[in-house]
Amino acid sequence: MAAQEDNIFKNVISHAKEYGFIFPSSEIYDGLSAVYDYGQNGAELKNNIKEYWWKFMTLLHENIVGIDAAIFMHPTTWKASGHVDAFSDPMLDNKDSKKRYRADVLIEDAIAKMEEKIEKEVEKAAKRFGESFDKEKFVTTNPRTLEYQKKIDDTNARLKTATSNADMAAMKQIIIDLDIADPVSGTKNWTDVRQFNLMFSTEMGSVADDANKIYLRPETAQGIFVNFLNVQKTGRMKIPFGIAQIGKAFRNEIVARQFIFRMREFEQMEMQFFVKPGEEMQWYEYWKEKRMRWHQTLGLGAENYRFHDHLNLAHYANAACDIQFNFPIGFKELEGIHSRTDFDLKNHEKYSGKKLQYFDSEENQSYIPYVVETSVGLDRMFLSILSKSYTEEKLEDGSDRVVLRIPAPLAPHKVAVLPLMKKDGLPEKAMEIMNELKFDLNCFYEEKDAIGRRYRRQDAIGTPYCVTVDHQTLEDNTVTIRDRDTMKQERVKISDVKAQLIDACSINNLLRKI
Ligand code: ATP
Repeated sequence: MAAQEDNIFKNVISHAKEYGFIFPSSEIYDGLSAVYDYGQNGAELKNNIKEYWWKFMTLLHENIVGIDAAIFMHPTTWKASGHVDAFSDPMLDNKDSKKRYRADVLIEDAIAKMEEKIEKEVEKAAKRFGESFDKEKFVTTNPRTLEYQKKIDDTNARLKTATSNADMAAMKQIIIDLDIADPVSGTKNWTDVRQFNLMFSTEMGSVADDANKIYLRPETAQGIFVNFLNVQKTGRMKIPFGIAQIGKAFRNEIVARQFIFRMREFEQMEMQFFVKPGEEMQWYEYWKEKRMRWHQTLGLGAENYRFHDHLNLAHYANAACDIQFNFPIGFKELEGIHSRTDFDLKNHEKYSGKKLQYFDSEENQSYIPYVVETSVGLDRMFLSILSKSYTEEKLEDGSDRVVLRIPAPLAPHKVAVLPLMKKDGLPEKAMEIMNELKFDLNCFYEEKDAIGRRYRRQDAIGTPYCVTVDHQTLEDNTVTIRDRDTMKQERVKISDVKAQLIDACSINNLLRKI
């Protein structure tokens, strides 16, 4: 990570804590690794992200319904889904730094560095050749880029084989051959690569034997699969249809050093879309496009999102990609879109002995539907929004301000109602306005300190508008509305304030733009 980005990431983390967005879990006991609590502003932002997602899924698609399944599930669920046998990451330790790494991530990072090298060669050549530069021709003929590309292709192929054969020795050999050093100690003194299952387990009931062992769900999807027929029958759903869910998931992550990017307890927003076998690729493309539009409508900059196709497909998938976001730690996975075939339902049928099929009345036949899933991490969404909206500014008067340019519909508070002074009936008038607004808009009221300082505090928590009540308000029933981003103020009739703010801050208006 470049030093400047590293600094920004540190500043975002400390800002999140200082302004009540995110605290380390049980901090008075020095915290718990990779577990975080959301504070008063964080909880509001998180709820708004959920609303934006939930309404997109269930209101905008008449064939998608939402459920809320339990975290605990029958242990056989995880046998059937493949998680007991295969939900593990290959890990290894560096003997000098004692740090633990995911072997596949070390290799993927090394590949990303080779890709950067190609990009650098391209940039250099583009400068040299100017207008006449032909990128395609350059990368397919230049000996240096060809060599890098060959190494990338070879490594990808070896990683794919090692992953699908669960061959840990082969994985280690790639690390040795690529000459990968620990970024902390700088040495190549590695242990062997071992498989590490990421599921947390606990016991249910009073007898602690194996029969009572249950897992904390590592993904929310299985709660949807086991309820597939319940929902289909009771909701009289016709294929294609989707089931959406927001809920906690737990993974005993090996590398958990990236704030809320990789947590051991996190939240997922998942939607499983059940389709006719053979039609999954068309729906896969459909959902890729739809989900990208959902992200980009937030206005954080289209250039900060990109698709990344999976070369190493998970055991259940026949196509998969990520939507990556330009986090302060680089472009990383924000959402996964997977064509999961009939893998899950077929296995639940096998392990439960219950038929999990759909009767297609048009075709007059039963079949196990195929599934296209969209799965986005709520906490990663939070981090994408927080990190891109965090801005350090130098103002014309030479002073500094930190502002969170959170999209207005997602901001924790939509408006701060501020009496200019704490006297002359201004607080009473401000309260009157607030009491009118608070049923439709999350408001903040504050009367302490100079108005400039109060504006700065609202900037720091991302409140898009401040309504200020001054002496003129008492004379002509107007207030000023200050815009967080431009810092411009306009005078508005009190009777117009509510409609104007609702229009600017409504999640529904955002949804209309998708
Ligand atoms: P990664 O490759 O980063 O480990 P994954 O491919 O295992 O992620 P999925 O199983 O596809 O992730 O989960 C779907 C989404 O859940 C991810 O896109 C991500 O946003 C979120 N997610 C997964 N693991 C975590 C975690 N440990 N902390 C926070 N969010 C997570």
